[in-house]
Amino acid sequence: MCSDLSDTNHNPGADAARDGDDHPPCERGGRNDPLPLKEPVRDTTALPSEKNPPLDVSTSDAADKEPRSRPEATRPLLDDEAWEIERLTWLEHRDSRAKSNPKSVSSSKPLAAVRQRLESILSLAERKYGVTRIIGGGASLEQCLFLILRRGWDFKKASKAIRILESHYIDWNELRVSTIGEIFELIAPLKCSDLEDRVRRMKTFLQTVVDEYNDLNNDLFRLMEFELLRRFLVGVEILGKANAYVFLQCYRNELAKKNEDEADPAKLLIISPESMRVGIRLGIIKKTQSTNVARQDFWRIMGPSDDYRFQNVLVQHAETFCFPKNPHCKDCFLKDDCQYFKERT
Ligand code: SF4
Repeated sequence: MCSDLSDTNHNPGADAARDGDDHPPCERGGRNDPLPLKEPVRDTTALPSEKNPPLDVSTSDAADKEPRSRPEATRPLLDDEAWEIERLTWLEHRDSRAKSNPKSVSSSKPLAAVRQRLESILSLAERKYGVTRIIGGGASLEQCLFLILRRGWDFKKASKAIRILESHYIDWNELRVSTIGEIFELIAPLKCSDLEDRVRRMKTFLQTVVDEYNDLNNDLFRLMEFELLRRFLVGVEILGKANAYVFLQCYRNELAKKNEDEADPAKLLIISPESMRVGIRLGIIKKTQSTNVARQDFWRIMGPSDDYRFQNVLVQHAETFCFPKNPHCKDCFLKDDCQYFKERT
């Protein structure tokens, strides 16, 4: 297979690192291209090497000659419904633990009224930015690809597209080195006007991960320390900050589920500068510089399944209207319910 490494997504710096000679990319043979030699930055204490081998970067032809068969999944995918049930069960459990020690929200407003306001803000914002969904599979690379695909697209179709790609490609590196045309053909029957752009973004994302970690193991992010992962994902423009925070929330919930006894549910919610800014301006949490205080305030007013919605819509809102300086209040669909706007008009 001749890989399309010459498309606009391709990183020339990575080429130079990979190539090291005069061969044009196509002569090198697709998925066996050597990857950058940079050491992956991972939490190696949690990395059983035999379970998580590095990406095969050999230049041997053997892999091409082997029959195309997908390695057996170590973690079966839950279907959407099973995943949703599992997630909600956990969130309800978490919520009940948190509310066993209720304190009133820091403002003087009754808790129920503030909760209602948050719910109405989230619902309104979801109409604008789209309903938040994740797929079974937790904090995997596949989840990131889904989040890139699904924005502004039908959730079920995006989910189906991921399943098609997963069954077609041996691993995500094979998708990375496939041409946009090849990938497009596979999922084109699902119909989406800007599918080519989505495919391009997925490829660019995978290339960015390879450039940084020299690895495309589906479980790569699971093995990383949270802060390193946060810094990386939030900086990846092609993924988008809202998707990055949805993914990080997924990572944290998954980790908490594994260590359920030790998990403090009130600490699970990830607070970004964006969600804090929007929450304070809207007046649903009190003014604070402390993420811990903001987390507690948000936590007390959130419903059991609000955490992904929260990450998705508040971060998108912060990036679309509610900028740190000169927010676009006049055009904002939440202005009628916004304390900051009322104070300034
Ligand atoms: S009205 Fe202005 S301050 Fe309030 S949420 Fe909208 S953009 Fe932010």
